[in-house]
Amino acid sequence: MARLSERNPASAPGDWYVDRRCIDCGASREAAPGLIVHRKGKSVFARQPANEEEERAAWRAVLVCPTASVGTEGHRAQPADLFPQELAPGVYRCGYNAESSFGAHSYFVRRAEGNLLVDSPRHVGKLVRKLEDLGGVSNILLSHQDDVADAHRYAKHFNARVWIHEDDARAAPYATDLLRGGEPAEIRKQLLAIPVPGHTKGSVVYLLEETYLFTGDSLAWSHEREGLVAFRDACWYSWSEQRRSLAKLADHRFEWVLAGHGGSVRLPAEEMRARLRALVERM
Ligand code: SF4
Repeated sequence: MARLSERNPASAPGDWYVDRRCIDCGASREAAPGLIVHRKGKSVFARQPANEEEERAAWRAVLVCPTASVGTEGHRAQPADLFPQELAPGVYRCGYNAESSFGAHSYFVRRAEGNLLVDSPRHVGKLVRKLEDLGGVSNILLSHQDDVADAHRYAKHFNARVWIHEDDARAAPYATDLLRGGEPAEIRKQLLAIPVPGHTKGSVVYLLEETYLFTGDSLAWSHEREGLVAFRDACWYSWSEQRRSLAKLADHRFEWVLAGHGGSVRLPAEEMRARLRALVERM
């Protein structure tokens, strides 16, 4: 629960607030864009929710926050069915972001060929039951070593295969399938694992149906800059490698960037490619 006694005074007056324990992971800003904003190294409410839809966004911010820093003074009932949040047909944001992954977003995909979990949320009974209702998880796709969170518990619960690149595999000794080398690998039809060394040596993005690109911490959308971004300050392996990796990514077609940290976006494939090339130029 958020701590009223530690309410950040920079948060807009009113019932909803963010406390000072915020670690600035950015997850709440993606859950409630425009409502929760960045100020002086923390997230705060820019204004109070003005309608039911914005109130649902604020509640989503409560559920994504890994430090439980988002709260309300009012005694409102939390709406049901906030997460998993369907972003596109059968593609969901999981919510319940883990502090161990610095609040990274994770995703669930429902498909007849078998459902996917991309990176891992906290292992929360409420979410586990929802994923059971949606058909369970057959494959867990880990983007890199930092965002594994509770993947081992989901793997055990759903008896799922777990994929990670061998260069980051120390973070997931329970992985069943190791990706090797630098070339894309087909996990199944219409699902590619594309190594993108840079953020970490073993970073991987996953491309589903030439449409959905799950990017971990290698690539994201910035609502503030209205462009694709990569995180130089959080590049743990090699910035020049990351630039090379993202340049190669422009060979692939995709419309969605679904990021671990930072924003997600849908754009026409050609515009996405042009924006990716522009990012590589800036890097
Ligand atoms: S999700 Fe929580 S910790 Fe992360 S930026 Fe928002 S308020 Fe801060």
